[in-house]
Amino acid sequence: MATTDQLTDRVASPDPLVAAIAARLPDVRLLADEVDRESYRYDETAYLRAGLPRAVALPTTTADVAELVRIAREFRVPIVPRGAGTGLSGGAAGIEGCLTIAFTAMDRIIEIDRENLVAVVQPGIINAKLKAAVAEEGLFYAPDPASFEMCSIGGNLGTNAGGLCCVKYGQTRDSVLSLEVVMADGEVIRTGGRNVKDVAGYSLTHLFVGSQGTLAITTEATLRLRPAPPPRSTMLAFFPTLEGAGAAVAGIAAAGLSPVTLELMDRFTIAAVDDMNDLGLDRTAAAMLMVESDMPGAAAADELSRAEVACREAGATDVVRSADAQEADWLRQARRAAHYALERLGEVHMEDVAVPRARVPDMLRAIEGIAARHEVRMGTFGHAGDGNLHPDLVFDRGDPQAEAKTEAVKNDLYRAALDLGGTVTGEHGIGAARRDWLEATRGAGAVRVMRSIKAALDPEGILNPGRVI
Ligand SMILES: Cc1cc2nc3c(=O)[nH]c(=O)nc-3n(C[C@H](O)[C@H](O)[C@H](O)COP(=O)(O)OP(=O)(O)OC[C@H]3O[C@@H](n4cnc5c(N)ncnc54)[C@H](O)[C@@H]3O)c2cc1C
Repeated sequence: MATTDQLTDRVASPDPLVAAIAARLPDVRLLADEVDRESYRYDETAYLRAGLPRAVALPTTTADVAELVRIAREFRVPIVPRGAGTGLSGGAAGIEGCLTIAFTAMDRIIEIDRENLVAVVQPGIINAKLKAAVAEEGLFYAPDPASFEMCSIGGNLGTNAGGLCCVKYGQTRDSVLSLEVVMADGEVIRTGGRNVKDVAGYSLTHLFVGSQGTLAITTEATLRLRPAPPPRSTMLAFFPTLEGAGAAVAGIAAAGLSPVTLELMDRFTIAAVDDMNDLGLDRTAAAMLMVESDMPGAAAADELSRAEVACREAGATDVVRSADAQEADWLRQARRAAHYALERLGEVHMEDVAVPRARVPDMLRAIEGIAARHEVRMGTFGHAGDGNLHPDLVFDRGDPQAEAKTEAVKNDLYRAALDLGGTVTGEHGIGAARRDWLEATRGAGAVRVMRSIKAALDPEGILNPGRVI
């Protein structure tokens, strides 16, 4: 039930949109106060311009969401679906005058089906909570963004999130079997069932995953689980050059290995992470690779030994292994915190380029050159095993040149990635941040097809307009 405060807020509100929601959905939590709405203006890209939502609704059921969509449509108000707001493309940031539908209160695990290795969840569940719940059943939900303790499954589906174990288990898309979604006219549809194999008609599931709330709103997801793998063994390899680390990534792939994690940090990031966590990392190294195996028994040691050979051949000067599972956890936690370690040094603008794995050394060389040319501080880390790198620009807080420099650096990074056969975003999404580069990345024909899909599914353009296309 709504609290007295919220009801007072509604009664006092002269806004007809707020009044309509309050009247038709009296049990839905609704934020109309400006201070509350302000906290839904930004996602994790506070450096981008964003609008103030006109109202923020926190539904608890699919029927609530469908009614909210119908109301927004009647008032011709844009809708921004929002999970935990940790996105790095401005996808959940406010649009001036929008209705933000925040899924925080739709966070139930509806079912864990052990026989079919499936979990059915509401979109607001936090990734880490789902992982923990299925682990209690001896099962594993693979998608593993570095933000897994904060981000929601709805947001992961919205961005087709990646993370630290895509190199072995794929992106979020590879762990979803079907969705329940609310369409732009308020109709509720299901895109599939619990079948591992199902090719009936177009794959709407895969169309909606990664569409950043622009085609439909997810209200339930049927996710694929796996038997829990053994605890991971972890190895760190330090390199005197960035290119050496890049060559090792290509070497590990060429050796036919499939580690569960293959992450990279450059010197700048190593120092920031070490300052924050005091791990005793080799701060003289130009780059570090973290390699993990979740193979059973001796196979893990064998996989890491073969990865070590590839690292040594590429010039690694030092290779260390975690002594036990707890030490491995600390190292993984430190890698996950790389973004926040850099944020201790200033305002961080994170990028997300990706290239074919064998081109990682070229991309790393290009990133170094771009940072030097524009005279910006840049820390690079990322999921090198997927060819996905996050060059993070670090500015002094309040630097008046930050916006212009980001734009110039970003353009050079994107051009370099595309020239290497890559993409401007590996996992964070086009959102609001990278729209100008969609056509250069996909081509005019593909963007035309995307526009016609958007027009067919959302003819009035109310679902997260201005994002993606
Ligand atoms: C420190 C840090 C580390 C990160 N590491 C990674 C990483 O390793 N890999 C990675 O991929 N990302 C990473 N991210 C980015 C971010 O966490 C992911 O993009 C995540 O998927 C966003 O989830 P969220 O719940 O915060 O979604 P939000 O930011 O709230 O939303 C993301 C997008 O999904 C849409 N959306 C949300 N819910 C729904 C819904 N129910 N229906 C339809 N659309 C919806 C939104 O409109 C928006 O476009 C990181 C972010 C931070 C801050």
